[in-house]
Amino acid sequence: MKIKEVKSHILQYDLEEELGYSQQYYQKRTGHLVEVVTDEGITGWGECFGPGNVAIANKVIVERVIQPMILEENPLNRDVLWHKVYNLLRDHGQKGMPIQALSGVDIALWDILGKVTGLSISRLIGGRFREQVPVYGYGMMLRREKLTALMDRFEDEAAAIKSAGFVATKMKVGLGAKQDVQLAESVRRGVGGDFPFMVDANHCYTVDQALYVGRALEELDAYWFEEPVAPEDLDGYRELRSQLKINIAGGEAEFTRWGWRNLLEKHCLDIAQPEVCALGGISEYLRVLALAQAHFTQVINHVWGSAVAIATNLQLLAVIPPLPGGIHPQEPMLEFDTTDNKFRDDLLTDPLNIQRQVAKNGGYVPIPDVPGHGAEPNREFLKHFALEV
Ligand code: CA
Repeated sequence: MKIKEVKSHILQYDLEEELGYSQQYYQKRTGHLVEVVTDEGITGWGECFGPGNVAIANKVIVERVIQPMILEENPLNRDVLWHKVYNLLRDHGQKGMPIQALSGVDIALWDILGKVTGLSISRLIGGRFREQVPVYGYGMMLRREKLTALMDRFEDEAAAIKSAGFVATKMKVGLGAKQDVQLAESVRRGVGGDFPFMVDANHCYTVDQALYVGRALEELDAYWFEEPVAPEDLDGYRELRSQLKINIAGGEAEFTRWGWRNLLEKHCLDIAQPEVCALGGISEYLRVLALAQAHFTQVINHVWGSAVAIATNLQLLAVIPPLPGGIHPQEPMLEFDTTDNKFRDDLLTDPLNIQRQVAKNGGYVPIPDVPGHGAEPNREFLKHFALEV
């Protein structure tokens, strides 16, 4: 079997409503899929993390940089190809876009292996610790509104996510430390006393600001505080972890085993959030998972993007070993974006229907056991939303 083509598909549409997080507001939804075509009629699908114009840069890396390195190679030699590409790109980027681009290719190669063997990726990795997984719904994105309007909106949206059946919810912050605490109070009001909620800062604070917000979040009994400071600030993470009781989560902006090694060795995190579509694909995710386990750090995957990313993450959530184990082990959750995303809801020939299953199954979704990750994009849909670059 040989690789005949590595194709990148960027999809985009205008959102009806602008959304924001602590770093920016955005009006367009973007998806970036990678298709690896073989000479035996089998095609694998992957996804690269990276919205907007970042996807365009990643497309060029996928098609013009990585494709020539792996054409005519056997797609089943995933790990050999991973290291060939990584070693050739090492001088040009050990983090960021080259690794995001490689991630999409690697996921597609695992999908090909699944289709060749007739096995799901979770079975290929070593079997399934769980057949279903609880889902948390994130929403409460920032808008250009007055604080009071945003507080009302967050309270209502949090209540709606809870009544949709999700087991927990997550909000954005980023207006400034004091205002952010008021937003978190609104979310607590919206979900009531016992329901878990998490707070995602997308690295907008200094350590001092994060301490102020983190202490307030402890009073509100929030479950975790995500990316409080810049991902490069490992000492800051470490200090927050030692001074705050709330769980510190992060890692979505970290890459490969080498980046993760530093984060874990320095004891920066209570909860590790590896992003498979960015950190180096499934091959590298498994090495990061082993590192996290070696440091007794709980893993709850970062999930963002289209149905291909969700289907891939469902396979990975099946293979996370309980840590440390027991009759009632702590289970990972699927992260699910509840805001408007056609690439999540309508992309596949056989849609995942996460929201419907969450409502029906008490907040859980079954993990598919089909060849590969099971996500097959609808060709007409791809054509309709294709961004020509
Ligand atoms: Ca995040």
